[in-house]
Amino acid sequence: MPSIRLAIVGLGKIARDQHLGAIEATQGIDLVAVASRNAALDGIACFPDIHTLLASGVEVDAVSLCTPPQGRFEQARAALLAGKHVMLEKPPGATIAEVFALEALAQKQGVSLFATWHSRESAAVEPARKLLSERKVRSVEVEWKEDVRHWHPGQAWIWEPGGLGVFDPGINALSIVTRIMPESFHLVSSELSFPANRAAPIAADLTFESAGGIKVSAAFDWRQTGPQTWDIRVETDEGPVVLTHGGSRLIVDGKAQIVEEDREYRNLYGRFVELVGSGRSDTDFSPLVHVADAFMLGRRNVVESFED
Ligand code: NAP
Repeated sequence: MPSIRLAIVGLGKIARDQHLGAIEATQGIDLVAVASRNAALDGIACFPDIHTLLASGVEVDAVSLCTPPQGRFEQARAALLAGKHVMLEKPPGATIAEVFALEALAQKQGVSLFATWHSRESAAVEPARKLLSERKVRSVEVEWKEDVRHWHPGQAWIWEPGGLGVFDPGINALSIVTRIMPESFHLVSSELSFPANRAAPIAADLTFESAGGIKVSAAFDWRQTGPQTWDIRVETDEGPVVLTHGGSRLIVDGKAQIVEEDREYRNLYGRFVELVGSGRSDTDFSPLVHVADAFMLGRRNVVESFED
């Protein structure tokens, strides 16, 4: 099969930190174009936006959307209507209805849509999933606490409606938990802390329950300075299973089992090549559904204003 000719849309932090290197390292896909209002790459065809790119005559087979979630729907829709395969950064969109509309459109157009969850590609996730399928899970506790000033300097969109606030990282934890849990679960309570001057929460405390009565609690907070915490602790009938460092380390019954280098984005592009090659899509929107529920059932608490 010839290599997929790919365009990146939105050449910002994650595109530069992860996508460019991962594309370079993946067989079967080549970067041929960029669409970004304020950024360009030497030696690559560059356009200010996806519409100009699609009208340019430059041949692309697929686009990878690395823009913020607000506005992503229009870009994805334009690409799908032009017959391009589409890879979506997380979260896949700003609303639930729009992502299901994209899924239906991709199917109608006969192209692949890949809603990516990079945290699911962390080294400990699949081993944890396998282990938990063989044990009885008693409870799950998620702690996802980081310093927003360090990780999102100057990013105004994350504080706007649709930017998700602390759920921008929190949805990564939910993408892991929805993958490793042996049964599905639903939200039962949500406390959201909104800075007085912002439209998105800076912290969230959630409780979920599975049909079988497993309690899942999650504490997300963007105000943590010093050491950062991205941990998921699962209590089982045979002892604790703990994922730390965002899912890249696994500790089983107190013993470290997996400590691996990050291959998340290389795995994602490898999977995208496979999906396009086999004419399939991968669209699990369950983490976004849980986040939407957190807003729907959320009690709004107003906290101290946040300044960058
Ligand atoms: P970012 O640094 O703000 O980059 C996004 C780029 O999209 C901008 O540089 C901008 O480039 C373009 N853009 C188009 N419309 C925009 C708009 N209305 N507002 C702002 N930028 C717009 O954001 P990012 O951190 O790369 O995040 C992008 C997506 O990747 C998000 O969904 C995020 O959750 C996800 N992600 C981020 C990280 C991370 O560590 N940062 C990790 C994993 C996933 P032009 O101005 O040139 O158009």
